[in-house]
Amino acid sequence: MIPYGRQDISEEDIEAVERVLRSDFLTQGPVIPAFERKFCDYTGANHAVAVNSATSALHIACLALDLGPGDILWTVPNTFVASANCAYYCGATVDFVDIDPDTRNMDVSALEAKLDGAAHAGCLPKIVVPVHFAGQSCDMRAIAELAKRYGFQVIEDASHAVGGSYADKRIGGCQFSEITIFSFHPVKIITTGEGGLALTNNAELAERMDLYRSHGVTRDASLMESPLKGPWYYEQVALGFNYRMTDLQAGLGLSQMQRLDAFTKKRNELAQTYNSLLQELPIGLPHQSFDTYSAWHLYTVLIPQPANRDVVFQEMREKGVGVNVHYIPVHLQPFYKKRGFKEGMFPYAEAHGNKTLTLPLHPNLTAEQQTHVVSALGEAIS
Ligand SMILES: *Cc1c(COP(=O)(O)O)cnc(C)c1O
Repeated sequence: MIPYGRQDISEEDIEAVERVLRSDFLTQGPVIPAFERKFCDYTGANHAVAVNSATSALHIACLALDLGPGDILWTVPNTFVASANCAYYCGATVDFVDIDPDTRNMDVSALEAKLDGAAHAGCLPKIVVPVHFAGQSCDMRAIAELAKRYGFQVIEDASHAVGGSYADKRIGGCQFSEITIFSFHPVKIITTGEGGLALTNNAELAERMDLYRSHGVTRDASLMESPLKGPWYYEQVALGFNYRMTDLQAGLGLSQMQRLDAFTKKRNELAQTYNSLLQELPIGLPHQSFDTYSAWHLYTVLIPQPANRDVVFQEMREKGVGVNVHYIPVHLQPFYKKRGFKEGMFPYAEAHGNKTLTLPLHPNLTAEQQTHVVSALGEAIS
């Protein structure tokens, strides 16, 4: 089966992990801060906090922004469940903004209309989480303007967009947001096994996220309630978690970083090849925004009627093509339906969820495999 996504592990990556294994620290050593600094240099953000997953990064980002009971977080239904779940972790609630059917990202006019209604009803969101679907940035300039006007804070879920850029700046620099989070799950652009990162330009937010990732415990005297009683002394000043990344993971991540630009370049080339090979088929191809360089985490096509996506999916799998679906709209998950969400609430995300099919795309996909994917799709559709 040709997988829809797959990590690329080099001998250098293996040696990097081996070096950590032979060193003094398997976790909380020097490699994590080196990995964080590398990401600051790469994205231009002032602070980076490495954690054990993007899900954890979303959680501590929400906590650092003081999301709590009575607060509301908005995101899109066309995402992985983690983008929304982080609100419930904090005792807050979730609502959704529909997607633009072309970009498949948060629809800025739908956001504006919903904000206007919420302002009148007195239920504005505290945090909005735009998701850079498939690696292509949302219209962050417009979202940042609305953030100013309506007084919410922005966490960019850039799990798909490591190595991408928007308006000539690398994603992660937080030009239009308080915090940006990345995922390093093996199907994403670079990997640490499990892993995630939160980036920010705000020192206080970085400090808070640092506390939350490690039990809320600090050895920094400036954060303590009592004077430092000795070098052995520490204080727990908040309820944190153990969300730390290990040095083993950071070693792998640092090594992977050296190939990040090569990975996104290859993904862009493969996506262009798909675009030309698929041109003749009666399907919808991915949208390309003029002001973004996509990291191309996903290459998704739309299977129109009368062809049936589920049948096409099955036939592709039978032909050895590991297609996938991104995403079943989050609000239609049983957990969310129990909280009042219903079919019909976000029609563009729902239509997308019914028609979308993710084709294999990863740096080691060969030309032969790509040709096989295209012919299998052609046969499945006719
Ligand atoms: C993968 C993903 C996450 C979660 O990432 P983990 O590192 O697996 O926790 C969150 N949001 C989006 C959009 C994702 O694709």
